Amino acid sequence: MSEPAPTIRYPESKERSAELLRLALVRMSAHDAALNPLTFAVWYEHLGGGNAELSRAFEVAHRDDPRMGDRTVQRLHEKHVIAARERAAEEVGDGLERLMHRMARAATETGAQAGQFHNTLENLTQVLRENDSADIAAEVERAQSHSARMSESLQTLRRELADSRNEAVRLRAELRSLRSEAMTCALTGVLNRKGFDERLAAMLAQPFTAGQEHVMVLLDVDHFKRVNDTHGHVLGDRVLEAIGRLLRERVTAEGASVARYGGEEFAILLPGMGLARAAEVTEAVRSDVSRIKLRQRATDREVLRVTASAGVAAARSADQPTELVQRADSALYAAKQGGRDRTVVSHERAVPAIAG
Ligand code: GH3
Ligand code: MG
Ligand code: MG
Repeated sequence: MSEPAPTIRYPESKERSAELLRLALVRMSAHDAALNPLTFAVWYEHLGGGNAELSRAFEVAHRDDPRMGDRTVQRLHEKHVIAARERAAEEVGDGLERLMHRMARAATETGAQAGQFHNTLENLTQVLRENDSADIAAEVERAQSHSARMSESLQTLRRELADSRNEAVRLRAELRSLRSEAMTCALTGVLNRKGFDERLAAMLAQPFTAGQEHVMVLLDVDHFKRVNDTHGHVLGDRVLEAIGRLLRERVTAEGASVARYGGEEFAILLPGMGLARAAEVTEAVRSDVSRIKLRQRATDREVLRVTASAGVAAARSADQPTELVQRADSALYAAKQGGRDRTVVSHERAVPAIAG
């Protein structure tokens, strides 16, 4: 069987890609986003014209954010560069598995037919023997043994195909793990926005009971712009990295998810935890964040600490994702208005859904 054709993501020649590189460099330099590989991938694919979906989204994004800042570029990358790669990979996996399935079925059928053929010949031999036609019987016996061998070899083929099918299933599992990588924020190790959207939808699809509502938390670093202005973006990134690590370690409730919601804003999902307990957990984690000490690598000198504000909201029955996010966001806003470095719980009453 021939191997599936590899998906060629960048078919451009060296000359063409060099031209795209020069073009992208000029454009990237004239816009705000950092000149990193992610930004380059977005510009390169857009200028190359091979990713129509990205180019359409790019035009719209460029109108809304003419400076093409980090957020815009990151969003384009997540939605239209990574996602397109993922889809292509999944299609390969699906196609391969379908093919294996079809072949296995064909072989099973052929095997069954050969088996029937074998039985027919056996009966015939029996009849001929009774009629004393020894020569004819010998001929037929030979044919019978041929058919038995055919049946055996088909069985082998069937086994081989089953093995290939297992291989396709394994490939799919690998693709799934690639997909989970595509849902992770590389800097902080928590889910990215795409991963968050999926978990939030899944959480809201589950019914809950009174006192055990699903809870969403938004946690935003206070005065983070100042951190960057005073200590530089590199240290700013290290702060985000440390917060990501802390949240991964401390938010361990069953089914809980942690995500990077935006630049310096994290989201936590606590399915079925109930508002009161979730508020306690949030406050504990939030105060842990304020105890993170960032040290200068060269001198080991403590250089900064940060505080964070959090908004906590419980899901209501039939909540749309945006409604819950909005309530958590309002609570976060109240925490900022109230002086930062605190947790505010949204006190809109949670109405339990009828289970089932
Ligand atoms: P507030 O307390 O009101 O939240 O103030 P703030 O300064 O934290 O909020 P503001 O939204 O004004 O600024 C957020 C800053 O976070 C600006 C942006 O440059 C920075 N930021 C966003 N993403 C990243 C990142 O990935 N790395 C670094 N170093 N900084 C980031
Ligand atoms: Mg902030
Ligand atoms: Mg913010």
